[in-house]
This record gives sequence, structure tokens and C-alpha cells, in this order.
Amino acid sequence: MNRVTVLALCAWGLSCMAAEPRAVDDAAMADVSNTAEWLTYGRNHNEQRFVPLDQINSGNVAGLKLDWYLDVPDAVGLVSTPLVADGVMYFVGSRNIARAVDAVTGELLWTYDPEVPKHAAHRMRIAFVHGSRGLAMWGDKVFIPTIDGRLIALEAATGEHVWTATTIDPSKAMYITGAPKAFRGKVLIGNGGTEHGPARGYVTAYDAETGEQAWRFWIVPGNPADGFENAAMEMAAKTWTGEWWNVGGGGNSWHGLTYDPEFNAVYIGTGNGSPWNQKIRSPGGGDNLFLCSVLALDADTGEYRWHYQTTPGETWDYNSNMDIVLADLRIDGRDVKALMHAPKNGFFYVIDRSNGKLISAEPIAEVNWASHVDLETGRPVEMPGVRYLDGGPVHITPGALGAHNWPPMSYNPEHGLVYIPTVHETYQFFDEGIDIALWKSPNWQAPVPKEGFGVAALVVPRAPGKPKGTLQAWDPVRQERVWEVPFEVAWNPGTLTTAGDLVFQGTVHGDLVAYHAATGEALWRQAVGLGVSAPPITYAIGGRQYLAVLVGWGSSPAVGGTDEQHGLGWAYGVHPRRLLAFSLEGEAAMPASPPPAPPVPLDDPGFEIDDDLANYGLQVYMNCATCHGPDAISGGASPDLRASPIVLSDGAFEEVVREGTLLGNGMPAFPGLSDAHLEALQHYLRQRARAGLGLIDVPSAGLTGQR
Ligand code: CA
Repeated sequence: MNRVTVLALCAWGLSCMAAEPRAVDDAAMADVSNTAEWLTYGRNHNEQRFVPLDQINSGNVAGLKLDWYLDVPDAVGLVSTPLVADGVMYFVGSRNIARAVDAVTGELLWTYDPEVPKHAAHRMRIAFVHGSRGLAMWGDKVFIPTIDGRLIALEAATGEHVWTATTIDPSKAMYITGAPKAFRGKVLIGNGGTEHGPARGYVTAYDAETGEQAWRFWIVPGNPADGFENAAMEMAAKTWTGEWWNVGGGGNSWHGLTYDPEFNAVYIGTGNGSPWNQKIRSPGGGDNLFLCSVLALDADTGEYRWHYQTTPGETWDYNSNMDIVLADLRIDGRDVKALMHAPKNGFFYVIDRSNGKLISAEPIAEVNWASHVDLETGRPVEMPGVRYLDGGPVHITPGALGAHNWPPMSYNPEHGLVYIPTVHETYQFFDEGIDIALWKSPNWQAPVPKEGFGVAALVVPRAPGKPKGTLQAWDPVRQERVWEVPFEVAWNPGTLTTAGDLVFQGTVHGDLVAYHAATGEALWRQAVGLGVSAPPITYAIGGRQYLAVLVGWGSSPAVGGTDEQHGLGWAYGVHPRRLLAFSLEGEAAMPASPPPAPPVPLDDPGFEIDDDLANYGLQVYMNCATCHGPDAISGGASPDLRASPIVLSDGAFEEVVREGTLLGNGMPAFPGLSDAHLEALQHYLRQRARAGLGLIDVPSAGLTGQR
């Protein structure tokens, strides 16, 4: 608790804790009984997101009220889990701007802006869409990663800069979205970017005091001719074929770092292949270690301990980057030090973390790529034809979003249930008609459109049929579903569970909801003015339990611009982004927020659209679609260009697009675009605007799905 808060609480006659701030260490992060703090991404080293607090409970949650709030005016999407230590809440927002606020009053204590657009520059083109999911603490420091690949240490008390480590090769198409993991005086961080260029994933541990590199572990092997970094890489190389090092291999660890004090191990969730299509990556097949795995490493040295691969030889973007949750389970009369993991591939895994042996795996959603996981071999039993060896197309479920993505699950040990935001959708996979020998990785630095897109390895459209989402309560011991709440939209945010028999989750429709942990009955629903993309947290200070959540529709689903996302009506720059804290004694009024309404395209009736130019403009627009959405329809995380007055002004359009005058907002400069490119782009955007107004009929270009 910080001194200001202590004095305030003392003045109010509430219990006063020791005023001396204490440093965050492994004992604190392992102490599940400490309900005043939230010290790691998933609260404790076990990453369960369970809090043994019951002041707010199933009997009284209906009376939950707003206690305080903070506007976050520079934010776009907010997806992160705040930390709470010593009465102070720390969180990262858009462009990795970090803030510290008094966790009792919401008063802003400090702001640190790492000036991400300036450092990232053109990298914003691949990284703008991604929010930052969190930060870490160790000792008296806070650690924030930036999308441009820096790891920055700040004084927790003041927000003053201590050190910066550069964790990626600036020439590579990589970025950081995940939270770092701190343990034993070190801070561990991975990176993402598998989809934007040849990538070879790794994680790096840094000394928390100095920022010096302590160790690095590569996730896939490099060129054998260069020698292997360690025996694990030599072993892994035996599972690859062809010249995989030329295409990178992938495996990037962009999320899912857990530290286990009982075994002094870190568990790393590893990513999919680069590229997705295994025929290119490893043409003779093979398991391709350590893609799509849980890797256990020695926390002090980074040495390999064991691995469990969830999807051998993956070829469907089935990464295993999802959160890794530790729990003591009793299974078949035996106490098990378990690790729980629900990766994209649709199975829920319970693994004995003392040795990496699979205990059980069952599907949490419809799974058609494998019939089951063989418990003897620990391997999935694939269905025939799923590898599109004949070119396809083959319909694969779960789709490339995965049955479970990064929105975290939570585990309630009192109910023995895991609460999982689940995606139900199907993708088609095919490379028929593509000469994969011509495959070229995208070039994120290409100044002009065509070179930037590479040559497809694979086509992956969403299959026809409406996807949906669910929140489900899953029994990890019996491996079965206990209850389920259906949603209209596939992607939903992460969960929190408490000893008050509650599960909390936001909705994409702009609510925060409390469910009964045992039944799934909705007990409280509060409108928060904007779609929620971040998981809530809870803590108690001064005898009061708070429930806090960042409200800021963001991440991939807020960019996608599909009908259901656009139809939610959340718009860039319209709906305020906020940090909200609730309690039973809250007396604050909910701040106003405009009602949801999709942006209305602007028309310039005097503008004559040249169809040929518009068609060429569509090619140029491929540069923009990653952030501004397919068919120029924004899902809310970025400006909807059909409704932008900037596009209607030749001068302003050129300044923004070519000169980068809005770089501070995250819009990179595209100096390589010619006048002809810009003109074509304007014709395309006017065409999409008129189509959006229903004035003309132009079919969707279906921009998503080329890999
Ligand atoms: Ca991926």
C-alpha cells in the first residue's frame, strides 16, 4: 500500500497496514492468500485468476456499484490485466503507455509514455492492431514490453525509467504483445510476428536489476550447418525436413509464460509454424519441435527440461500460446501437480508438470481434425485428409482463431472448474491452384503494395455458417463441460473467478457480467459504455473488495470489420476508453458514453468513381486492411476510412498517408506510395463508402484469409 493511501485510510479510521512499501518477490507472487494485491498477469505464480475473496458474492453481487473510474483518453483498444501492489494499480494501454493509479481512489499517480510510434515507425503497420496484454513486477520495479520489441524497467514508485533492453532484431517483422514474466530476479519475454515474415521464435530472460541478458532459448532449430545452440535444438532438428531455416520455422512465444516455484521451472506456450503450410516449411513432414508445445525450462539457466507437443507437424495455425495454469488436482485417487492448458486446437490438456506426461485431453469444442488424443502415445489421432495434401479445400474446426485464444481462462479450486472463453468456428484450408514453389514471405518493409504481400502459401477463408462463442465451465478432472453460456459473437474476453461463487466476464456488447460459478446463472449485468476486451481483476484494500476492468474494445476482433463486429457499433474516437472499479459501497455515477452506432460513410456526390482505378485501389488498400478492416469497414479499433473526412481532402490524405502526420496516433507513413497509388486508394474508398450507404452494389473483396 502506498503511503498516500495508508494515510488516507488511517484518516478514515480503517485498518492501517505497515507504511513501508515492500518489494515484490517470489514469495509474494506465490502467496494465494494475499488478497490485497494482484502481482502477476494471472494474479499469482499459479496464474489461476482465482481470488479467495467473498465480500462480493453470489448473494449480494446484484448490489455492485461503480466506486471510481479513470478516463484513458489516449487509448484505443485496452486488453491488459492490471497489476495491484502496495495499494497502487499499474496498467498498460494503447501504444504501451503505462499508468499507475491509486487502487482505492483511482487518482492518477504517474504516466510513462515509451513513445512507441516513434520507435516502431513502419512496424506499426503490423503491430497497430495488437494491444498489450500486461506488465510484470519485481522488487521495486515495473516492467513494460513495447510492441517495437523493447523491455523497459521503471521505478514502481515514480514511473522513472531505469533500463531498456532491446529484445528483437529490428530488421525482423516481430513485435511484443504479451506480458513479461518475472521470477528469481529475472524478467522473461517472448515475441510474435510469425505471420509477417520468416520468423524463428525465442524467449529471453533479463536480469531485473540491470537489464542484462541472462539466457535465451530458441524454440525451433536454426541451420544445422551453423551448429546447434544446445542438445534440445539438435533433438528438435531431427523432426524437421527440407531447409526450414530459410523460412524461419516459427514457434514464436507471444503469450503464455508461467513460472512454477515448486519445480523452479518456466513453462512456455509456443507458437505455430512459419509459414502455416507445412508443405513449404518442412516438406517431408515431421513433428517440427518445438512448435505448438508446452516447453519446461530451468528458470535459472533456460535449459530444456521437457516438452509436450499439442499439435505435431501443425499446418492450421494451431499455436499453443494460450495461458498455462497450475493447480493441485486429485485425479483417480492420486494427487497431481497439474498444468492446465487449452490451446487453439480444441483440446483441454491436463499435464503432470513434474515430468511433462499427459494425463488427459478432451475436446472443449467441436474438433474435426483429430478424433482424440491417444493417452498412451500422448499424440492426437488425426482424421484423414485434414492436411490438405491433395490441395483441399478441407473444412477444419476449430478454425485459425482457435477454440480458445489468448483471452485468459480462470480456475476456481473451490468449485473445481475452469471458466473458458470459447470460440466455435470453421475455416477452409486449401492450397489448390497455388504453386507453393513460388511462395514468398510477406515483406513488412516493402514501400509499395505488391512486394509487401508475398505470395500465398495457403488460402484460409472462414467457412460459411455463423460462428459463435461461449463461456463454459469445464471440469478438468472429469474432463467434461458443466455449464455453458452462448454468445452471438465468437470472440469474448477473459474471465475472473472468486470465493464468492462468482465468475466475472465482460461482453463485446458493452457489459460486465457476474455469473454463478456453479450454475452459470447471470446474477449482475452492468452497462460499461463500450465493448470489453480485457479480463477483470479483484482485490481488497481497507476492508473493501474492488472489481476493476479496463474498458476499451480492441485487439483483432475490433479490427476484423466482419458484419458482426461492425454491427456492434463501437467506433474509433467516439466511445470513451476507461478504467472502472466497482464495489458494494460504490457511490460514483457511471460516466456517460454515446450509444453504439456504426460509423456512417461520407459521400462526395461530385466524385466520379473510376472502376478500374478503384480496382487498383483495392490492391493498394491491402496495405491498410490489417488495421482498417476488410472492405474498408472498421470494427472500431481504427478509423473507418469510409467515414473519414481526411480521405475526402487530397492534401490531408497525402499528409497523413505519405508523410505520416498522424504517426503519434499509430498511423505509419507510407512514403513509397506514388500519387497514382493515392488516387487509386481514394477511388476505392469512395466506392466502399457509396456501397456502405447502399447507393451502389459492390461485392465484398473478402480480403482475409491469404497466408
Ligand atoms: Ca499465429
